[in-house]
Amino acid sequence: MFGKMMHQSLLISNLIEHAAKYHADTSIISREVSGQITTTNWQQVQQNTKRLANAFKTFNLNEGDRLATIAWNNHRHLESWYAISGSGLVCHTINPRLFPEQLIFIINDAQDKAIFFDTTFLPLINAIKDKVPTVERFICLSAFDEKVATALPEVIFYDELIQDQSTTFDWPQLDENTPSSLCYTSGTTGNPKGVLYSHRSTLLHTMAISLPDSLNLSAKDIVMPVVPMFHVNAWGIPYATAMVGSSIVLPGPNLDGESLVNLIDDYKVTVALGVPTIWQGLLAAAKKKGTRLESMVRNVVGGAACPPSIIRDFKYNYDCDTIHAWGMSETSPLGTANQPKAKHFALNTEEFEQLRLTQGRPPFGIELRIVDGDSTIPLENDGQTQGNLQVRGPWVVDHYFNQEKSSLTVDGWFDTGDIATINSDGYMTICDRAKDLIKSGGEWISSVEIENIAVGHPDIRMAAAIAAKHPKWDERPILIAVKQENASITEADILAYFENKIARWQIPDAVIFVDALPVNGTGKIVKAELRAQYGDTLLQNDAVV
Ligand code: AMP
Repeated sequence: MFGKMMHQSLLISNLIEHAAKYHADTSIISREVSGQITTTNWQQVQQNTKRLANAFKTFNLNEGDRLATIAWNNHRHLESWYAISGSGLVCHTINPRLFPEQLIFIINDAQDKAIFFDTTFLPLINAIKDKVPTVERFICLSAFDEKVATALPEVIFYDELIQDQSTTFDWPQLDENTPSSLCYTSGTTGNPKGVLYSHRSTLLHTMAISLPDSLNLSAKDIVMPVVPMFHVNAWGIPYATAMVGSSIVLPGPNLDGESLVNLIDDYKVTVALGVPTIWQGLLAAAKKKGTRLESMVRNVVGGAACPPSIIRDFKYNYDCDTIHAWGMSETSPLGTANQPKAKHFALNTEEFEQLRLTQGRPPFGIELRIVDGDSTIPLENDGQTQGNLQVRGPWVVDHYFNQEKSSLTVDGWFDTGDIATINSDGYMTICDRAKDLIKSGGEWISSVEIENIAVGHPDIRMAAAIAAKHPKWDERPILIAVKQENASITEADILAYFENKIARWQIPDAVIFVDALPVNGTGKIVKAELRAQYGDTLLQNDAVV
């Protein structure tokens, strides 16, 4: 016997319908590639979404076909997302900062039928278009543009495509397990792998991330996802804002600190989300402008470990609560978020800050465990024991796209490739990526811990700790760092700064100053590149014993 309740599939089209019906006039602010700001609302987004869904009828598409987007966070991109997934097609978001060969690989692997792109990426489209035979249409996310039309004669302009279409469209009532979107992992080695989300996994994830103990989103918020829509669906924000009816500020291509600070102040952003490098730039720009970022209540940091200095700066100088979150493409992405429990308000300042530094605890739906290597026996959750972090839940990958083999352990968990500890309350701390740990004389050193200390130095803007080969200890940590503008610190200053902050043997052997660190399309430092470039540094140094 089943329960006697209505059955309704959990569908992405329900989100946009809900937003249009109950939050019609809530603003959607969007920066265009031209720099101009457009203001629309959930009702207008829904109407354009339906116009585009009607236009698809002329495209000769079948359910499940993939349509790609290479675009910034803007309103046309948002509309395309809802039209594609809502119509039973798969929205394949592509990271434009991948190497052209990787782009070609993933478009061919996904067999995309069309690509929606922002004018910024016209050169890229022209460079790859002859190598992606399945792509039948290139849709430029803009009004008619003479320059684009000349450079790409077959182009279709988004505004022209939808302008004469009806705003009446009945969304197909799909099975909730139908695929809805596709995202390739940025993988620093090997070919990227596709994660194929479903309507069901997306809706469950959306509910979980909106909860008070996750990102705490509501119709009172004005949310700015700085994290790109091509980075794990902007962490689910385009869906969650529709679900809770909040306003969105979409920052377009201008992700520099000054532009973001101005958007926050001008549009009274209450919550913004991004990777640590974004916050470093933003905080520097806020100081320069002299703003107190009055409207900002919360910021969400994820994608890489959040340095303590960011949390403190936001808290003490801007009265803004930083939520540290962890996740990955394979987990939709939210796996954990750091929100305190009632009992934690009794902690002293230092203990409380220590707790808030961890990557947080899982919302209902996600289970975590740590194991030793290939073992399936969970290690103790004592906050000390380190192990391979594994995860399971209804928005965690099972198989990668186009792969026959399950990606799970024999007992059904997904191995994240991260090394972590978990405490008795479920708060998880990422110690490192398994491949980024530094093994010195048989002992492990966390690169994250070294980096967190380094960027706490006021003269250091960015830093990466990597393993350098060493004749005696196998590996030793070295630090590659970018100084703040006009800073005059030396290697000796930085090494002295580590004293008493970590064990002596964990202090890096060398500091190399560079003008910039290599970052990938999602703002993460590409350590593999640094290891290739600087990994032999200590072998060349005669002084090393
Ligand atoms: P991606 O799938 O590209 O988003 O990368 C996921 C990986 O980013 C995770 O497996 C972690 O190694 C890393 N990551 C994400 N969030 C955090 C965080 N808050 N702290 C440390 N590492 C993180």
